[in-house]
Amino acid sequence: MTNQSREIPYKIYLEESEMPKQWYNVRADMKNKPAPLLNPATHKPMTAEELSQVFCEDLVKQELDNDNAYIDIPQEILDFYKMYRPSPLVRAYCLEKKLDTPAKIYYKFEGNNTSGSHKLNSAIAQAYYAKKQGLKGVTTETGAGQWGTALSMACAYLGLDCKVYMVKCSYEQKPFRREVMRTYGAAVTPSPSETTEIGRKILAEHPGTTGSLGCAISEAVEVATHTEGYRYVLGSVLNQVLLHQSVIGLETKAALDKYGITPDVIIGCAGGGSNLGGLISPFMGEKLRGEKDYRFIAVEPASCPSFTRGKFAYDFCDTGMVTPLQKMYTLGSGFIPSANHAGGLRYHGMSSVLSQLYHDGLMEAVSVEQTSVFEAAEMFARVEGILPAPESSHAIRVAIDEALKCKENNEEKTIVFGLTGTGYFDMVAYEKFNNGEMKDYIPTDEELEAGFAGIPRFEGNEF
Ligand SMILES: *Cc1c(COP(=O)(O)O)cnc(C)c1O
Repeated sequence: MTNQSREIPYKIYLEESEMPKQWYNVRADMKNKPAPLLNPATHKPMTAEELSQVFCEDLVKQELDNDNAYIDIPQEILDFYKMYRPSPLVRAYCLEKKLDTPAKIYYKFEGNNTSGSHKLNSAIAQAYYAKKQGLKGVTTETGAGQWGTALSMACAYLGLDCKVYMVKCSYEQKPFRREVMRTYGAAVTPSPSETTEIGRKILAEHPGTTGSLGCAISEAVEVATHTEGYRYVLGSVLNQVLLHQSVIGLETKAALDKYGITPDVIIGCAGGGSNLGGLISPFMGEKLRGEKDYRFIAVEPASCPSFTRGKFAYDFCDTGMVTPLQKMYTLGSGFIPSANHAGGLRYHGMSSVLSQLYHDGLMEAVSVEQTSVFEAAEMFARVEGILPAPESSHAIRVAIDEALKCKENNEEKTIVFGLTGTGYFDMVAYEKFNNGEMKDYIPTDEELEAGFAGIPRFEGNEF
């Protein structure tokens, strides 16, 4: 490429006019489509009508759309995006130098907004469709707090009511997250709580539990379906969320194309799969269409290893078993991971789009332990300046590992990773690490078996 000789700036920005105007739906290019959501009572695919009782109508359409590759981003969402996007694609020159690697490392930084993560990309979209439908408000869960914050911001902007069920251990560990949400007008309840039937049931069965995303989802869904004018929204996992997050990958691709750069490896952390799915979608599309080849790597915590040790099966998305069944890599909806410090990655399941792609061998996955993640986070913060979120640091870890392999093999590969957010609210975790008190926890096979035992068994769900 002639462009390749041009000096690559530290930050590649796009002009406003170069920002994507449509989301890209990778399902349209998948030969093996992700399996449909099933009604847990009948084991038949959920109809649009059934889904509309829980989700907004336009979002249900997006959820079920396996055919349209491009979906217009409404003008109001484009306008909101312009307040904090395009996000920079940064050449990690300082990290490369520190590692003394011939690899070229880039990261797409999504932490440049008050919510501190990529979650705002989907929060504004989901809030917009709720508003458009004339709803009064939305309910949701939040783990680490980034999603709840993003949704609170989006709801404040559009004048929607917002009720957030926050996983209890984060609620207690991150009181400032809670206050940010309240500043944006959200009502925040620690989960499991006494305010819902399912919360009371979970508390009775597991007294003293610090909660999980799965519990919080059950509560938020219960409140949405029992309150007039409310719907439930989810910050990850669902097809619609990956669709909205494709804005990350589209911008990344546009920025790389500007300089004629083709990545070899694309890396992202995976909780429910939304940032990774969004980042890789346009590149995966090229791979699926046979135009180009890339390596994609999902990085998950060793304490919550859905891809690397989970089962590919239909399972509930929540602990209370009130959601539809989704086919995905899962540890079982009853699996509650140890209280590790990457709250956003403590989910038992995974996006069904990514699960299918992984199952078909189009993507790789690795799991990493948290002390090695924080070592990478610390190195990154010291050389690149940004204090990364623990979740994002999983991707940093593996990007560094890949760059070190390049050094060993003297290979000049181009590595792109998603830097999903900042870690200012994670200082308890950093404190543990700095004090040398951080522990690694890897669940035993027996512990995982207990989780798998909770996966529903029915004909067609062999695993
Ligand atoms: C929520 C979150 C994640 C993980 O969620 P995905 O849906 O897998 O992207 C990663 N990083 C940050 C900063 C988050 O807030």
